[in-house]
Amino acid sequence: MTQPHTHKRYLTLNDHLRARYGRKVFKVPLDAGFTCPNKDGTAGTGGCVFCSPSGSGDYAGDQALTLREQFDTIRERLHDKWPDAAYIPYFQANTNTYADLDTLRACFDQAAGFHPDVVAIAIATRPDALENDVIDYLDSLSNRVDVTLELGLQSMHDETGQRINRGHDLNTFDAAVMRLAKTGVEIVVHIINGLPGETPAMMLDTIKHLNTLPIHGVKIHMLHVMKRTALGEDYEKEPFPLLVLPAYVDIVVEQLRYLRPDIVVHRVTGDSPKEALLAPAWTLKKFVVMNEIDKRLRALDARQGDCYKKKTD
Ligand code: SF4
Repeated sequence: MTQPHTHKRYLTLNDHLRARYGRKVFKVPLDAGFTCPNKDGTAGTGGCVFCSPSGSGDYAGDQALTLREQFDTIRERLHDKWPDAAYIPYFQANTNTYADLDTLRACFDQAAGFHPDVVAIAIATRPDALENDVIDYLDSLSNRVDVTLELGLQSMHDETGQRINRGHDLNTFDAAVMRLAKTGVEIVVHIINGLPGETPAMMLDTIKHLNTLPIHGVKIHMLHVMKRTALGEDYEKEPFPLLVLPAYVDIVVEQLRYLRPDIVVHRVTGDSPKEALLAPAWTLKKFVVMNEIDKRLRALDARQGDCYKKKTD
């Protein structure tokens, strides 16, 4: 199968957005001040063990500013260099569908109208925080502007989910995906490699499971051990082994080779603020990690989906 890659051996978000909108597109991370059912006792307390006080929104806008101000601050910074760019307001911090419908409608309707160059809205959330009326609303919103929901799965393995205090299970995730698949909302799934107790085979299982679902994108992260998290506190008491860069590259390359070719790869590694990161330090060199993945794919003459294809032909 020919893939619309320009320079990578996998279908990058950048290529996908350029193909769809015909120009450079930036995501603008925002903090709408929501909380999370895995922190307030509804689904759990304490949150996922890796989650920072900002609710995994370390690059989101300043909560002291209005959403509009957060968006304008970033857009203005980018506009000089990229005057023709389009934008996607990205509700990143915490669980962005965890509020009543009126509140959500006010946020997302407002974001859709921030600027004529807003082409889509991206919303990070949990699969257990999607009421039917919210899904119906997002479906209707998707008639006006593209809408992407980013769902945190991290791993398909429920024993890992329990270990990281995820507070929902695979059945809940699968059911949410199938409900969303009946709407105009696109689905992107966040996964994390290197979670406690996971082997490379388990991480590959997660990709193989995603291949069976009607999803549109995946974000692949390395586990970051951050300060002021439950995981970080454990690590500071007694450091535990984490994946080294070559092992991470091996795992991601294998995951890409098995990944369904139509699934857009939003990320192959994450980043976190240097001052908040305890380990592993190599994750700070995001471009090195991406280059190593590219190099390995080239050396193997491999690309996204080549193993998926072999299995299904
Ligand atoms: S679901 Fe997201 S915001 Fe909530 S605790 Fe987990 S990582 Fe943090």
